[in-house]
Amino acid sequence: MPFTLHGDDVCQLTPPSPLPDPYWVAFSPDVAKLLHIDTDSTGLPSNPEWLQVLAGNQLTVGGIEFSHPISTAYSGHQFGVWAGQLGDGRAILLGDVNGLELQLKGAGKTHYSRMGDGRAVLRSSIREFLCSEAMHGLGIPTSRALSVVGSRQAVRRETMETAAVCSRTAPSFIRIGHFEHFASTQNIARLEELADLMISNFYPECAGAQDRYLGLFKAISARNAKLVAQWQSVGFCHGVLNSDNISALGLTIDYGPFGFLDHFEIDHVCNHSDQGGRYAYHRQPQVMHWNMACLASAMLPLLELDQSSEKSQTLLRSAMEEFPLIYAKEWQHLFRSKLGLQLEKKEDIQLIERLLQALHDSRVDFTNFFRSLSNLSKNSTQLEILQRNEFIDREHIDQWFSDYTKRLQSENLDDQARKKQMNGINPKYILRNHLAQAAIEKAHQNDFSEVATLLKILTNPFDEHESFNDYSKAPPADMQHIAVSCSS
Ligand code: AMP
Ligand code: MG
Repeated sequence: MPFTLHGDDVCQLTPPSPLPDPYWVAFSPDVAKLLHIDTDSTGLPSNPEWLQVLAGNQLTVGGIEFSHPISTAYSGHQFGVWAGQLGDGRAILLGDVNGLELQLKGAGKTHYSRMGDGRAVLRSSIREFLCSEAMHGLGIPTSRALSVVGSRQAVRRETMETAAVCSRTAPSFIRIGHFEHFASTQNIARLEELADLMISNFYPECAGAQDRYLGLFKAISARNAKLVAQWQSVGFCHGVLNSDNISALGLTIDYGPFGFLDHFEIDHVCNHSDQGGRYAYHRQPQVMHWNMACLASAMLPLLELDQSSEKSQTLLRSAMEEFPLIYAKEWQHLFRSKLGLQLEKKEDIQLIERLLQALHDSRVDFTNFFRSLSNLSKNSTQLEILQRNEFIDREHIDQWFSDYTKRLQSENLDDQARKKQMNGINPKYILRNHLAQAAIEKAHQNDFSEVATLLKILTNPFDEHESFNDYSKAPPADMQHIAVSCSS
């Protein structure tokens, strides 16, 4: 559904700025299919005019006309502080294709660019492209990426770089920040319009009810609680969980200085600019809950349309209490599955937490540890368990493995069936920073093959891809601390 609120307090007509001599850097045939874009045997659009459209140079292609490209207004809290009006500073919504919104990110200045140039650099565009598709491959709700188009156009960041445009798609890019925008300007009619739009298009289960806005709040909150549990289960750190980067559909959006954990470090901070560690791995659930409090206060005036302020506040406060419960349930389910446990036993939580502490203490590779766990037999003896060598405190981990194998013996699945189940939830491949970096360095030399290879592997991250084993390895020591920051 394209953004359907009209008026210059909500959005502005924003034609993309032309990009000189564009060329393909990356393209996803899977996303093209979603958008009904025909591709040829090379996997690129059959109609070459798509290159110009996705570069921002042209607004018609085939029978499609993007006659009303817009950028939208939103506000939000950045790093816990109210930042006032923000808006699509470098994202332009071209329009609707097959029921999905198609945005160009980095296609030039918009009404909301403030001091920015409205551009994105090649490295950040490749990272957004690959991570969107990697997250989808992992089964985690996300905006999808269609393409990256490169150009020789220079862009100034810490150094001079070149501009690129990433095209991305989602049913809607509405954020918590859109709600906050209308609440902060006390534009209650708009706020209501926005909430009604979300209900009719994406949360029909809330329609018609007397307390539909409370229902909408709960539904958005529940989706984001589950989303953050999924992030934790694959070691994904978003990096900038500001309220303007939180989707009202519970999608992962706005990929910037994100990072997947290599070795497990509970307080890992992936964003170099996040000096206080506000968005560290272990804080993500709490921070997402905090963002839902921003949504609750933005939606308060909607509840007050039907009842007293006091009653509205009480209702929202108790709705806020559902988040940690939904999160914990999902987290437990996911981590049980990661350990190959089908039955729900109370003591499992302790088993999971003891393991995470041990992984942290010995800084064991998160992804590879869980992946390799499926090779264990229920009847493994201590010395058969090779994974113990990864840990510093052997005695301690031996006790854990002993408790774990015992616990496995109470399960119904045999080793082989459990292995299959575990390999369907513990990926072999994630978008490690050093892999993205290698692809970016090649792309800077006009070699885009590594981007294509990563796309192929990460789209099916649970498959073995034997010939790509090296891509599953932990980074070499000199590649462990690649700094990524907000500047992109
Ligand atoms: P982000 O941290 O990427 O979510 O960005 C925060 C805000 O800054 C959003 O409103 C962006 O649209 C805006 N922004 C980021 N980079 C640029 C840029 N190069 N030009 C204009 N606006 C930008
Ligand atoms: Mg953003």
